[in-house]
Amino acid sequence: MFDLEEVRLTVDQREAIRLSDLLGMSHEEAGRRMGVSRATFGRIIQRARGAVADALINGKAINVEGGNYQLIDKARIFHCSACDHEWEEPVGTGRPPRCPSCRNTDFYRTRRKVDDSDS
Ligand SMILES: [Zn+2]
Repeated sequence: MFDLEEVRLTVDQREAIRLSDLLGMSHEEAGRRMGVSRATFGRIIQRARGAVADALINGKAINVEGGNYQLIDKARIFHCSACDHEWEEPVGTGRPPRCPSCRNTDFYRTRRKVDDSDS
């Protein structure tokens, strides 16, 4: 039980399952959210389901890898450790020098917390 075999799931594959199977999005819509084509999304979700099925049927643990997660939104979200301020920076502008709220430089990139329901 402690030496459980593992299947690996990339963050992208996990996100694909979340969007498609948990939220019920179409491949096209989910692909758009992840910034990939419908065909690419189809391949991601296929591999993801294969891994999950393997774990389920063969009693393996699922290990979600760090992977190179692509932000699904066009903007990047930063979170300030000092004042908890969260703000967005458009893609391609580089890392902002400091928190726009408190001027602290101790901040990190994060992901959108809430799943904004297609505003
Ligand atoms: Zn701040």
